[in-house]
Parts: sequence; C-alpha cells; structure tokens
Amino acid sequence: MKTRSTKAVIAALLMGTSTISVADDHALSGAIAKDYDYLENLFVDFHRNPELSFRENETAQRLGSELGALGFEVTHGLGQTGLVAMMKNGDGPTLLIRADMDGLPVKENSGLSYMSTKRQTNTKGVEMPVMHACGHDMHMTSLVGTARQLVAMKDKWQGTLMLVGQPAEEVIGGAKAMLDDGLYDKFPRPDFAVALHVASQAPAGMILYRPGIMYSSSDSVRITVHGVGTHGASPHLGKDPIVIGAQIVNALQTLVAREISPLSPGVVTVGTFHAGTKNNIISDTAELTLTVRSNDEKVRHKLLQGIKRIAENTGRVAGLPEDKLPTVILSEESTPTTMNDGALTERLDKTLRAHFPEGQVKAYDQKNMGAEDFAYFSQVDPAVPGFYFIVGGTPRAAFEAEASGGPAVPGHHSPLFKISPEPSIKAGVEAMTVITLDLLGK
Ligand SMILES: [Zn+2]
Ligand SMILES: [Zn+2]
Repeated sequence: MKTRSTKAVIAALLMGTSTISVADDHALSGAIAKDYDYLENLFVDFHRNPELSFRENETAQRLGSELGALGFEVTHGLGQTGLVAMMKNGDGPTLLIRADMDGLPVKENSGLSYMSTKRQTNTKGVEMPVMHACGHDMHMTSLVGTARQLVAMKDKWQGTLMLVGQPAEEVIGGAKAMLDDGLYDKFPRPDFAVALHVASQAPAGMILYRPGIMYSSSDSVRITVHGVGTHGASPHLGKDPIVIGAQIVNALQTLVAREISPLSPGVVTVGTFHAGTKNNIISDTAELTLTVRSNDEKVRHKLLQGIKRIAENTGRVAGLPEDKLPTVILSEESTPTTMNDGALTERLDKTLRAHFPEGQVKAYDQKNMGAEDFAYFSQVDPAVPGFYFIVGGTPRAAFEAEASGGPAVPGHHSPLFKISPEPSIKAGVEAMTVITLDLLGK
C-alpha cells in the first residue's frame, strides 16, 4: 500500500471535511468527491488482485492496513481470513458495517483496462482464474471511503464502529465462520448491522432497499439413497436406488405446489442426481443434491422437514429396512433470509430520502431468489437490527442501449461483469456515512 502516516491521512481529511453535518449534503458529497481519486486507486488495486473464498489473505491485509492507518484497531484471522476493525469514539451504540471480500472462479473478459489476469489455488487445491465478478471490490472500497469520512468528522458522532471484512460470501460460509469464531464474544455485540451490495442491474448511484425481505434463504441438501446392488436382469434380487431416487424427485415437486401457500414463494430444485456405473448393473447407491429457497423462515422450515419426510418415507414405501432409509443432510451450506428490520428501515428511510436528491432512493423490488449470508450478523438471539441496501452500478446509457437492441448489461458472476466505479462508490460512501451519522450521531 501507499504509506501515508495516520496523522497525515487524518489531517488531509480534516482539511476537506471539517464543516460537514448530516444536513450539510453538499459538503459531504464534496468531501467524498475530493477523496475519490484515492478510492479509485484502491478499487482498481482490489479489482486487479481478486482472491477466492477463504483465500482472501492479501485482500484482508490491504483492507486492514487501510483501516489501521486511519486509527482502527485491526484483528485478522477471524473465521479464517476475516478481519475486524474497531474504533471507539466515546460512549454510544456499536454499529457493525460489513464488506465481503471474495472474488469468484471466473476468467475475466470485461475488456476493462484494469482487468484481472490472476489465478489462485482454491481451498480444494485446484488452480482457478479469479475475478471480482460480483463487485465485492466496490464494497471494500466503500467501507474504506466511509471510514475515511467518519474519521475526519469524529466530532459529529459518538459510539463504536465495528468494520468487518468478511470472507467467503460466495460460498455463504464466511459470516457464519466469523460468528462461530467468536465475533460477538471477542468483540462487542453490535446494536445495528449494516451492509451494501452493488448491482449491475440497477442504474449507477441509485440506492434501493425495502423493509422485510431483501434476499432469500438458501439451503444445500444432500440425499443419499441406499439400495441393494444386483444384476440388471434380476431386479427382484436387489433394491433399485435409481427408481427410489426418481420417485423422491417427483414427490418433492408437491412440496411447493401443495404444501406452502401460493402467496409464499419457495423453490426446491434437484440440481444433481448421480447413480450407477453400467447399463446392466443395478447400483447400490444414488445421490441427489438440492438447493432450497424461501422468503420466510417458517416456509424454509416446512420445506426442509418436508424433504426429509418424503425421502425417508419413499424409502419405506420401497420396502427398505429402517437402517437403510435414505440419508438426508439438511443445510450442508445454508443461510437464513436477509430481512431488513422494520423500525430501523423506517428510520433510515427518512434520513436517506431527506439527504439524497429526489429519485436517487427507491424501493427495492426483489426479482429472484438469490441468497446472501449477511443475515448471520443480525439473526442471532437476541436479534441485531439489520439494514441491507443495494447501490446501482451501471450507467443509464447502457440500459438504454440494451433496450434499443444493443448489448445486454452483464449480470453478476459473468466474465463480462463490470460496474462504473465512480458513481457507485460515491453513492455507497455517502449513504453509509449518512446512515452512521444517523445511528451514532450526537
Ligand atoms: Zn456473488
Ligand atoms: Zn456478491
């Protein structure tokens, strides 16, 4: 990293931002604009050097040194590669702000001048191309930008900032790993938890959220059907796990269709079904893997329990003994629904709408059943009120071009994925700073 002393960084920021208040909208956006060149360099550096889930070592070091230089107390290695940066500024609430750090095993083909050419060995020992194809580079840059603003105006807020660099969001494992590693035991339990995600499918600089559901729950389920292998010409001498597995696949379709309300969305997809080695051998095992999505924890529970019930009882119908019923592993990888706390969302909605020009803040419309593991930071007992918002990342002109037959705007996880860093980082920093000044403001 560029080595500027903490004092020099703070002094430089203080000069630009000493007159800011929440109400002083122009001063804040002016201060962020002045800091933007620094942030763009950081963004480009993150983009050029992506790392895979649970392999974010250099990324965490870079993020940690940025925050450390601002005076945060940085702890590395929580949940393998996660980091926590704390700053206490008088008595007051504790606010957790999370940025996820991982890239994806995608070979970048965006055409950007700062395209990634990196390759890295994943946690299974396989070398992969790596790309920030989901915009987590923007999240980390926004976190640093927000920290730089807040350090420059410590007279405007009081309380504790708890900045979290989270590993492995893309495998929905990092948030849980940090909590299992004692995030809320070794550090104070926050009063609020906030995060953002850039979206290539929303206009650059737009801020979107809503109370309640933001992202669906996701559970990976594994069903192993134990049959009795035999010759294909003598099926009566064995138990055919392919037939039992096929009956399970069909019966699972009734869960969403017949057991949950038509007004509550749910998905049960059998993504893989593997069995057998040869046409004339009845296999002794079949394995199915599923993804299960819901927007409601009750629906989620019902779907998961239903899968177990159907799998085991289909085994009984086939005459399998009790000790050879299908084995069901629920939630191999899982994350709860990401819900925005009602009261917190109402409070921040007023603040954000008052701060930003009309039209920049909009209600979020969930378009798919994608998942995110931020929920782990808030769905603890007792719950930590959470707020998650989207920042648009694609210039309007690109959507207009698409609408008139031009190239499609690339989605997340695509080799073509790209966002406009300037409007999205500026909006991300501004929104996060305004939120913090509301929640920790004097
Ligand atoms: Zn992603
Ligand atoms: Zn993402």
